[in-house]
Amino acid sequence: MSRYTEGAEGSLLREGVVGCGVIMPNPPPCPFEKRYPSELFRDDRYFMQLALNEAIEAWNADEVPIGAVVAYGGQVVARAHNRVEALKDPTAHAEILAITQTSNLLGDWRLNEATLYVTKEPCPMCAGAAIMARLSRVVYAIRDPKMGCLGGAASVQRLPRLNHRVEVTPGVMEPECLDLLQAYFAIKRRES
Ligand SMILES: [Zn+2]
Repeated sequence: MSRYTEGAEGSLLREGVVGCGVIMPNPPPCPFEKRYPSELFRDDRYFMQLALNEAIEAWNADEVPIGAVVAYGGQVVARAHNRVEALKDPTAHAEILAITQTSNLLGDWRLNEATLYVTKEPCPMCAGAAIMARLSRVVYAIRDPKMGCLGGAASVQRLPRLNHRVEVTPGVMEPECLDLLQAYFAIKRRES
């Protein structure tokens, strides 16, 4: 079934559009609970739990649930989730938004001391952004053999003349993040 229907004036209206033109999303509530990890142990798992909380935020906004945070000096300096639908912007991936937030906060595009945590392996665009931002590390949960470009499907780090390489740690909290993503797509498949 098409997502679009013909309006009274022949204009294309998205299903769910009400009279005032506001789109009323109807996301199924996320059945996964946010986590509140102890701040005493700020290891990779700690930061990934915060990224997972961002993915839950994405779900509740009816976006593909992928979340990211950036750690700098042991602190979270950016948190973001996928907003492609809300912003109607194919570049509004969690990683890009989190990297931009970090650069704005630090007033620098070089993020050598920063680590990006993201619930799914970065796509070609986001893996490229990680290199361009000169991130110190990228830690991700779900390996992506289809689009992942930090080892899953390919690696941008294999470009022979690259002048910056990030340290990559895959698979942190992969089962938990995968559960969330798969549950979301299962519901979406039932809806369509
Ligand atoms: Zn991406």
